[in-house]
Amino acid sequence: MIAVPTGSARKHRRSDIGRALDVAEALCRRQGVRLTKLRRAVLELVLESGHPVGAYELLGKLDAHVGAKAPATIYRALNFLIAHRCVHRIESLNAFVACVDLGDPHDSQFMICTDCGNAVEIHDEAIARALKRQSEKQGFELSEQIIELRGRCTSCQSKQPHA
Ligand SMILES: [Zn+2]
Ligand SMILES: [Zn+2]
Repeated sequence: MIAVPTGSARKHRRSDIGRALDVAEALCRRQGVRLTKLRRAVLELVLESGHPVGAYELLGKLDAHVGAKAPATIYRALNFLIAHRCVHRIESLNAFVACVDLGDPHDSQFMICTDCGNAVEIHDEAIARALKRQSEKQGFELSEQIIELRGRCTSCQSKQPHA
């Protein structure tokens, strides 16, 4: 299993956020699309939150000057960011996280802490391949892999160990 460093689950530091935004900008340019001011602002908020964040929470934090404060605006921006591999959607939480490996196409799995709500993104090629193989065997036309694990992160375990 390829574990992403635990730091990725914690709040991104300012410089990390700036770097991630630059990478996202370059990534969009390479894909021939534009990271508009609004899309950039939404991505920045997702990066800042450091944990899975819902669309309405984002809407509340969005500066009025970046765009119309309407849910549809946020969803459009989020869909763009998802399509261009900057953000992932955590289905079971109906929330969004910044990708830890911007621009690298991958199937992700998420470990979601039920205590603190943190979600750690991992990329395990073997899991993704095994599921693709199984789908092919069953004649199942796979469109997306959604793998979300629930449990407790190491920091929550150390705060309150189960007896
Ligand atoms: Zn990712
Ligand atoms: Zn936790």
